[in-house]
Amino acid sequence: MSVHFRKLALIGIGLIGSSIALAARRQGLVEVISIATRKQETLDQARDLELGDLYTLDPAEAVRGADLVILCAPVGAYEDIARAIGPALAPGAIVSDVGSVKAHVVKVVAPHLPPTVSFIPGHPIAGTEHSGPAAGFAELFAGRWCILTPQPDASPAHTEKLAAFWEAMGSNVEIMEAGHHDMVLAITSHIPHLIAYNIVGTADDLESVTKSEVIKFSAGGFRDFTRIAASDPVMWRDVFLTNRDAVLEMLGRFLGDLSVLQKAVETGDGAALESIFTRTRAIRRSIISAGQETAAPDFGRPHEAPPTPVIPFVREHGGGDDA
Ligand code: NAP
Repeated sequence: MSVHFRKLALIGIGLIGSSIALAARRQGLVEVISIATRKQETLDQARDLELGDLYTLDPAEAVRGADLVILCAPVGAYEDIARAIGPALAPGAIVSDVGSVKAHVVKVVAPHLPPTVSFIPGHPIAGTEHSGPAAGFAELFAGRWCILTPQPDASPAHTEKLAAFWEAMGSNVEIMEAGHHDMVLAITSHIPHLIAYNIVGTADDLESVTKSEVIKFSAGGFRDFTRIAASDPVMWRDVFLTNRDAVLEMLGRFLGDLSVLQKAVETGDGAALESIFTRTRAIRRSIISAGQETAAPDFGRPHEAPPTPVIPFVREHGGGDDA
């Protein structure tokens, strides 16, 4: 299906918004891109980076005449944005978003939209730990899933067109119910982030291990947690405030399983530990064979030698994630 939009309005132009602007432009999916953001400084940055054609601090002005509107701000800002843009939306427009939670988005945005638009919330499962307009790149969505959660009144033709838009930017599209999305993402993304924030915070608090030792010996699994724990604080605050029920349900299950592991360590039950680790290793392999991760050693990190051999142990084993 060939996709073409006359005017794409992006409300919020950070990592995800700027990546959409770059990918949609590169694939020739849109004629005009209008960009609205909250701070003048961010808007100026977007203009300097030539991410769009029209720039404004007024989201209502940005969406006027747009046939595709995508909210790309932190979810906590959505309700105010929806209230502001509702009266300015063109009949027949598709209204979507990229927020990491979906049921909450439906709850706060839908009441402000006119019945003449199709509301199809979305979530690209793609990201990095970087934020802001300069962080975006056109390939961000390539080979990644994008979940769409069309609302009951959305036109099926619009859902198809939005799916084709994401596919043209390289994504695989899956249609899902919003509540189901939130459960799936709670366990695959939200809880892992919570664990990463916690473990990095705990390591930082440990008095018997200095901060410099934490950094120096981070060749173990800890280093990969630090990447996740560097994710944007505002975005993740909003995720946990708005997907509370699903996160608490999955956290309950996680804590139950953690106490099984604790017991196995306590009682020296090697068979139980080995059995759990064998099962989880198979999951990692199936993620790689599904093309959602690289099998390159050390997650594809560059392996050039450091300029001076400071700590021989770290140099020898630093490439692995096996400590
Ligand atoms: P980001 O890089 O921090 O950018 C957020 C953008 O939203 C900034 O341009 C910010 O502009 C703007 N903004 C904030 N409040 C606003 C408001 N009230 N009105 C208009 N614009 C406002 O964030 P991001 O990573 O792109 O995340 C954006 C959305 O994508 C979030 O809802 C997040 O859940 C979702 N998401 C993120 C990832 C990820 O890995 N990062 C992955 C999938 C989905 P100012 O500087 O002017 O405030």
